[in-house]
Amino acid sequence: MQHENFQRAVLGWFDQYGRTHLPWQKERTPYRVWISEIMLQQTQVGTVIPYFERFLARFPDVESLAESSFDEVIALWAGLGYYARARNLHRAARIIVERHRGQLPTSLEELSALPGIGRSTAGAILSLGSGIRAPILDGNVKRVLCRHRGIEGWPGNPRILEKLWELSEALTPSIRVADYNQAMMDLGATVCTKRNPGCSTCPVGRDCEAFRSGRIDAIPATKPRRTLPVKRCFMLALTNGHGAFYLEKRQNVGVWGGLWSLPEFDCEEDVYAWCGKQHIDCSNLERLPQRRHTFSHYHLDFVPLVVRTGSDHCQIGEPSLGSWLIPNETIGLPAPILKLLTEIAD
Ligand code: SF4
Repeated sequence: MQHENFQRAVLGWFDQYGRTHLPWQKERTPYRVWISEIMLQQTQVGTVIPYFERFLARFPDVESLAESSFDEVIALWAGLGYYARARNLHRAARIIVERHRGQLPTSLEELSALPGIGRSTAGAILSLGSGIRAPILDGNVKRVLCRHRGIEGWPGNPRILEKLWELSEALTPSIRVADYNQAMMDLGATVCTKRNPGCSTCPVGRDCEAFRSGRIDAIPATKPRRTLPVKRCFMLALTNGHGAFYLEKRQNVGVWGGLWSLPEFDCEEDVYAWCGKQHIDCSNLERLPQRRHTFSHYHLDFVPLVVRTGSDHCQIGEPSLGSWLIPNETIGLPAPILKLLTEIAD
C-alpha cells in the first residue's frame, strides 16, 4: 500500500470509528494533551479519565501546576502508579514557566528536553495539541506498524526502533496530522489489539503482512524475559486505635517518591528496637501474611507488622518526616499501602 493510500484508509476509518469524546479531546490544548499523554503511559484510558478530570479541575494550566507544591500533585496522582511521571510533570511545569513563559515549546527538540517527555510524547503534544506535523510511536502504533509491515523482533530493540521511527515519519501526513495520529493510536487500542485483533474490520487489513502470513500472534515479538529481583522488608503499621497511622513521607526520589508510607525495616528485630527507642509498647505486635507488590523492575515482598498503641499523642522522630494521619485517597498513599491500612482499620 502506498503511503497516501495507507493514510487515506486510516483517516477514513477514523472518520467513522475514531474516538472523539475523550475528556482531553475537548478544548484540545498542548497542556491538556501533555497531561493526558503522560497519564496514559502504562495506564488504560478508563483508569485515566477520572484522574485527568480531577487533575485538570485543580491544575487547569501550566502556571497553576508550577505554583503548586509537589504534595498537592502527588496526592492527585496517588493510585495511578509510576510516580516518577508526576515528579517529572511538576518539574517540567516549573521549567516551562521559567524558561518558556508558560507556553509549551513548539519544537521537538525543546519539548523532548523537558523531564518525562520522550520523542513520541513530544510528537503527540505537537500534532494533537497544535496540528504540527510530527510522528508518534507509542505501543499501539508500534504494534500496528510491526504487523502491517511484518516486522519481526522486539520493537524495543534499537535497530527495530529506528526502522519503526523511519516508517512512522514517512507515513505521517502533512494535513490532518492530529486526526491521523489519534487514528493510529485508536486503531492499535481498539482494532489491532494485542490479542484477537479485529482484522476483518481493519482499514489496512487488505495488505497487512502479519495477517497475510498468519503471524499475528508472533508479531510484535514480546520483550525478552528477565527474572525480576525480589526485595524484602517489614513494614510497621503503627495505629493509635482511632483510625490514624504513623506514616512517613518518602524522599522525592525512587519508587513511591514523595508519597506517605509506612516505616520500613530489614528485619523484625529492628522493629522491636525502633519501638523500644520510641517507648512504644509492642507486646501486642501482630504479624500479617506477607504481601507482594510488583514494580516494573522488581518485586517488593513485605510483611506488615501491626502495633496498636492506644495513644493519640505519640510523637516519633522528626515531625517533618512522620505524622499521624488517617489514610484516605487524598493524602498521597501508594495504592497497596492504602489497601492494607483500610483493611487493618476495618
Ligand atoms: S489486519 Fe489485523 S494484524 Fe493487520 S494491522 Fe489490521 S488488525 Fe492489525
